[in-house]
Amino acid sequence: MNWLKRIRPAGPAADNTERSNAVPEGLWKKCPKCASPLYRPELERNLDVCPKCEHHMRIGARRRLDIFLDRSWPH
Ligand SMILES: [Zn+2]
Repeated sequence: MNWLKRIRPAGPAADNTERSNAVPEGLWKKCPKCASPLYRPELERNLDVCPKCEHHMRIGARRRLDIFLDRSWPH
């Protein structure tokens, strides 16, 4: 399995640290109430509620439906 290491010498962890300076557009969202930078995947896990001030973000009907389906659908 030496060829695997040659193809991916750094791994996904090193990839993340390299991007810490240049934040990709769309991955971070600013809370309109308390202006905290919110990591979007984290925010989605929190059902679009700001963890700092509990401000509810505006979410589209599609997102609302996704959350609804995710909750009601048996896994
Ligand atoms: Zn907030």
